[in-house]
Amino acid sequence: MNWDDFASWGEKISHWAADYHRDIRDLPVRAQTAPGEIAAALPATPPEGAEAMDTIMTDFERIVMPGITHWQHPRFFAYFPANAAPPSMLADMLITTIAAQCMLWQTSPAATEMEGVMIDWLRQALDLPPGFTGVIQDSASSATLSAVLTMRERATKWRGNREGLNGLGALRIYCSEQCHSSIDRACWVAGIGQDNLVKIGTSGRGNHAMDTDALAAAIAADRAAGHIPAGIIAITGGTGMGACDDLAAVAKIARAEDLYTHLDAAWAGSAMICPEYRAAFWPGVEHFDSIVFNPHKWLGAQFDCSVQFLRDPTQQLNTLKIEPEYLKTSGAAVTNYSEWTIPLGRRFRALKLWFLIRSYGLEGLRGRIRNHVAWTGELCEALREMEPFEIVTEPILSLFSFRCPGDDAMQQRLVDALNDDGRIYLTQGMHEGRKMIRFSVGQFDCTRDDVMIAADVIHEIWESLQ
Ligand SMILES: *Cc1c(COP(=O)(O)O)cnc(C)c1O
Repeated sequence: MNWDDFASWGEKISHWAADYHRDIRDLPVRAQTAPGEIAAALPATPPEGAEAMDTIMTDFERIVMPGITHWQHPRFFAYFPANAAPPSMLADMLITTIAAQCMLWQTSPAATEMEGVMIDWLRQALDLPPGFTGVIQDSASSATLSAVLTMRERATKWRGNREGLNGLGALRIYCSEQCHSSIDRACWVAGIGQDNLVKIGTSGRGNHAMDTDALAAAIAADRAAGHIPAGIIAITGGTGMGACDDLAAVAKIARAEDLYTHLDAAWAGSAMICPEYRAAFWPGVEHFDSIVFNPHKWLGAQFDCSVQFLRDPTQQLNTLKIEPEYLKTSGAAVTNYSEWTIPLGRRFRALKLWFLIRSYGLEGLRGRIRNHVAWTGELCEALREMEPFEIVTEPILSLFSFRCPGDDAMQQRLVDALNDDGRIYLTQGMHEGRKMIRFSVGQFDCTRDDVMIAADVIHEIWESLQ
């Protein structure tokens, strides 16, 4: 492909993108395909000769698009949102065009320096104290793994990386039973082991916070048993129902026990740009060593863009930094962000934040989040008043859960029927051993109508199953 053709296709695809978003409400939110259908429509062998871009694009629309679940659909209420606001998409096109590897300062100084400034813009937006720095990672899973490795190395006096974990004893990490599966997996791959991830029950108070008395008791019992407590992971906005730990209480225990702390605020962190939500969710955050939140979820930055704040980056650098001769740079001291993370190669993700935050301003981004929270509350009340439904967990920010009458299988039947209908998309979860239906609002273009219509759709589909 020559660059003139590239320009002409780039233009066509930009128009295609705008049309896609304009008409997206007409599409079923969740893909309506059966397993194997898309693979069967693709040729089993690669072409020997060149094919025209026209043909490729036609096949894209014919074969690929029917198999897409529309995450940018304004009535996407499943999981958590994965927004791609248009300015961040444009930035991503530029990132793709330049295609720089931003592993070291000198491999693209603008990327490194902008990353530092964007981290600081977000630090201010989230009201973290000066002194916090950080790094942009691909996902919260990677940030959490980096933090768990740091816990391990710090607790083993930096011997784990050198000697392996043989004979170093059982390293223990503590979190709430509401933690995300990325925490389990971080413990698997860091060599901690599932059995050494100690899950603490919730106290039943407030926002389903971890029972900190039980946390302190678990640490004491582990010390008595000769285990090595290494760190505590807290959550602000758990995936199941939005559980939020008491950060000040967790931090106090961590300080007394000299434990490294990580906070998973992957989803709810975005809402902390609104000062009015901080009192309930954020006090004590300033004591955490590592904090992750995903601008690629609720804030609007095209995937992938996960921010890890660090109170003192030295500990993570001591864990992950490696400097073979070919990566050494001469001259003045500079930041080389690949030393802060597990992968060496890195994209210019900061540009998406720069475009996003400048295009909307923090006030524009706050407005969306406030609307989502308000409409979630309204919808929850509407469902509560509709006879057959029961609210299971009350709204935490823009997430609540409900049940229809009947057993767990009935909940799944309703979820499946709603998703087959296609007007809205919901997913199920578990609460106290019972299946429930999650409702999560957060798509960037979603309107109050998109949210409120869901009550009627849920009622109508429920009736159709009777
Ligand atoms: C989405 C989510 C994660 C995982 O985020 P990735 O960026 O996909 O790795 C972790 N924790 C919570 C609470 C989440 O909502």
